[in-house]
Amino acid sequence: MWTGIIQHYRDFLPVSNKTPIVTLQEGNTPLLLSKSLSQRVGLEVYLKYEGLNPTGSFKDRGMTMAISKALEKGARCVMCASTGNTSASAAAYAAASGALKCIVLVPEGSIALGKLAQALIHQAKVIAIKGNFDDALTLVKTITQKYPVELVNSINPFRIEGQKTASFEVCDRLGDAPEYHAIPVGNAGNITAYWQGYQEYHNSGRAKRLPKMLGFQASGAAPIVRGKVVSEPETIATAIRIGNPASWKKALQARDESKGLIDEVTDQEILEAYKRLAGDSGVFVEPASAASVAGILKLHTQGYFQNKRGRIVCTLTGHGLKDPHIAVENIEKPVSLPPDMDVILKAIGF
Ligand SMILES: *Cc1c(COP(=O)(O)O)cnc(C)c1O
Repeated sequence: MWTGIIQHYRDFLPVSNKTPIVTLQEGNTPLLLSKSLSQRVGLEVYLKYEGLNPTGSFKDRGMTMAISKALEKGARCVMCASTGNTSASAAAYAAASGALKCIVLVPEGSIALGKLAQALIHQAKVIAIKGNFDDALTLVKTITQKYPVELVNSINPFRIEGQKTASFEVCDRLGDAPEYHAIPVGNAGNITAYWQGYQEYHNSGRAKRLPKMLGFQASGAAPIVRGKVVSEPETIATAIRIGNPASWKKALQARDESKGLIDEVTDQEILEAYKRLAGDSGVFVEPASAASVAGILKLHTQGYFQNKRGRIVCTLTGHGLKDPHIAVENIEKPVSLPPDMDVILKAIGF
């Protein structure tokens, strides 16, 4: 029986018998072979569908660790800045702990409605600030340094520890690490975590290979690609709308040590991949998640995978139902007809 990532991978995690484990049985997410993407790219393409975690994003892997460790330490309250999913996850795990209060700072107007609903229904104290994510994180860092509140953003090392278990799952399923791992990059915690996970599995002898890490930022929020802070990041992919990533240096390290790359994809490329994933692979993700697939499609067009062999794993970071209005804006609206058999049959084309 699956009882969450801490139980399953505890030998690789900084927990002891004294750590009270707060879990919603996160992890163990599907790794799906996409026929249509494999055909297109010419290598086997797998989708690590992290949208199927308890709160609908990979953030749960890190949050089970961060909340458990906060509780072990005797904390009463946790706090984070969020583009949405961190707040949803922190609020849910704080609720599950039965002991922790949760406060979240979000950029007003730029978080998806589903995520805001989650944080609120899980009883977090949500404060919207008239600023962006980077402003929110700066405030949270200062407040958590001065007051008895635990920071649960991904600069909390326990978050990275939990999130690295996704690479363990990939290796356990494939029997080794893939040749390539593609991933969206926002605050850059996740690319850092995956690379750490792959290295630890490699060092322990459980994987023979190390993948090339392929990170993708949205063009309007691509500070790492540009090599400078973006003061007003813009993209429809709100989860990666970040202009000054906290784990910037570690992302560069993951890129360079793995001989991979960090590139950008436009909102248009993100939307095309988003629709394609839903339409051709049956997988509904939020826009930010589609950046990994948009990225490998871009690299394919440039000939990057030509004459290459092996497997590509794309992390799909969050569920499509988080952000339904993006879907509704990008589809053809259903026709409305009278309840008449002939009219309906004609519309179907029978
Ligand atoms: C948090 C998040 C990201 C970005 O991850 P980082 O660790 O900040 O790089 C991407 N997609 C989704 C859906 C997220 O929730």
